[in-house]
Amino acid sequence: MHQNSSLPEIHPCGSCGAKPESLETIRPEGRLHDLYRVVCVCGQAAPKWSLTDFAAVRLWNWTMAGGAEKEMP
Ligand SMILES: [Zn+2]
Repeated sequence: MHQNSSLPEIHPCGSCGAKPESLETIRPEGRLHDLYRVVCVCGQAAPKWSLTDFAAVRLWNWTMAGGAEKEMP
């Protein structure tokens, strides 16, 4: 599995403890760029799609740190 060294370290999953190493990407209709999201093998996923892989990892880490229990920014 390819891991981009420029990305921040991905936090282990809060549900199963595994460390996701891949990002899911989609290209919604009408969009010029892919969107990124970290998804764990157990199905736990970041709550939103991000514009960059970097942002996707940040959002996942924030979520695993308990951010999802607070208001979304
Ligand atoms: Zn998991």
